[in-house]
Amino acid sequence: MRIDKFLANMGFGSRKEVKPLLKSGAVQVNGSVLKDPKSHVDPESDQITVNGEPVRYVEFIYVLMNKPPGVVSATEDNRDRTVVDLLGPEERNFKPFPVGRLDKDTEGLLLLTNDGQLAHELLSPKKHVDKTYFARIDGEVTAGDGEAFSEGVMLEDGYVTKPAILRILKSDSISEVELTITEGKFHQVKRMFRSRGKEVIYLKRLSMGTLALDPALGIGKFRHLTEDELQRLK
Ligand code: URA
Repeated sequence: MRIDKFLANMGFGSRKEVKPLLKSGAVQVNGSVLKDPKSHVDPESDQITVNGEPVRYVEFIYVLMNKPPGVVSATEDNRDRTVVDLLGPEERNFKPFPVGRLDKDTEGLLLLTNDGQLAHELLSPKKHVDKTYFARIDGEVTAGDGEAFSEGVMLEDGYVTKPAILRILKSDSISEVELTITEGKFHQVKRMFRSRGKEVIYLKRLSMGTLALDPALGIGKFRHLTEDELQRLK
């Protein structure tokens, strides 16, 4: 890996910004000063220091985002802003991608990482990772809806959903619920309510497996996972 890319990935600024750092002689590789931004290093085996401080190589990043409405869960899009656009340049250097998708109008917990293996395990249908959503529904949600969801409902394409748990927080002309599902079919929550003749008018993901949305994280904000959050997720 090029030394300028390595330093940028490790949070020392953009590739352009790390150039003067290199030129200043602050960077040493295996005890020798390295000034050329194009020279290559082996991040796993080379001893790299900046101003005498060893730089520990980190391969993966794990970011918890409170996704705002109006942005798409993708890495690139021709029309819309993406969740990756909301990250900082340091995070983007790691080429993270969203683990699963939330609809453009859905808010809440989204994990972004470049760890393909963890993403695969969280998304694998075999692992049945719980996802809990808060939803506002146009219409009165009843215990009958809860029973139907616990048995599985047939979506408009004939697919029968796996058992899901509905908690009714408020049953009125506009209802509020929490729904826990173990799958991630396209528009699943909206389609499950549609199968009961009801429309989701607001949707927010609260948790995914052991990872919960941080109430301190404002809409559109993100932070890196804590070591504890990461260990519990793996
Ligand atoms: N179910 C939906 O309908 N939309 C989402 O964004 C997530 C789950």
